[in-house]
Amino acid sequence: MKLFNSRPDIFGLNRTHLLNNLNDLLPAVSQSLEHLQSTALSRGIDLKPVSTFRSFEAQKNIWNLKASGKRTLLNDNGEPIDFNSLKPVEVMRAILRWSAFPGLSRHHWGTDLDVIDQNYLNTNPDYKVQLIPSEYQKGGPFADLGDFLNHELQDSDFFRPYEIDRDGVAPEPWHLSHKLSVKNFNNFKIQDFLDFLDSPHCEDIELLDAVKEEAEFIFINYFVNISSP
Ligand SMILES: [Zn+2]
Repeated sequence: MKLFNSRPDIFGLNRTHLLNNLNDLLPAVSQSLEHLQSTALSRGIDLKPVSTFRSFEAQKNIWNLKASGKRTLLNDNGEPIDFNSLKPVEVMRAILRWSAFPGLSRHHWGTDLDVIDQNYLNTNPDYKVQLIPSEYQKGGPFADLGDFLNHELQDSDFFRPYEIDRDGVAPEPWHLSHKLSVKNFNNFKIQDFLDFLDSPHCEDIELLDAVKEEAEFIFINYFVNISSP
């Protein structure tokens, strides 16, 4: 069969469960995380992952809910957009700003995670984490964590692939990638993605025709287009 069957690690096919397991990181990544957490703790920050490994099935579920109007779409400012006013290609681009196409998520690798400061939740138990940039900026609930990452991440094993707005994925100050992710990233070619789109795994993905039409643009603009380590 095709390449993707021999590379389940890249497409998130090595686990099929729908739910996140917060301990699902590669052993070396967990070790680096512990180190980063202890540095954070010495500055009074309780750095905790809220999302780690995400399977292809889980990402497909997110995509299909958004692509069928069952989950709210957001504009660049994080405000809701009217699903019914959008053409399929506009829906697709609105999703890609905030969510990866299934198979293209860095959360499929066990090297990437989203983090918050648990300290804030301990004192504000009713607070609902949104994962939006303002939470990590001055005055936001995770401002101390944002500041810590701005200054300390370069001395760790992690980097932020969505550090600035590159017109692809919106800035995600909470998303950390371990340097081990570079191997998967470099081995992942456009042809892998094109083959994968034609595979049975993708048959029940919403907006598949629109995605196939812009496959190259999607791969380059929303996957390759990141801040390097
Ligand atoms: Zn993330």
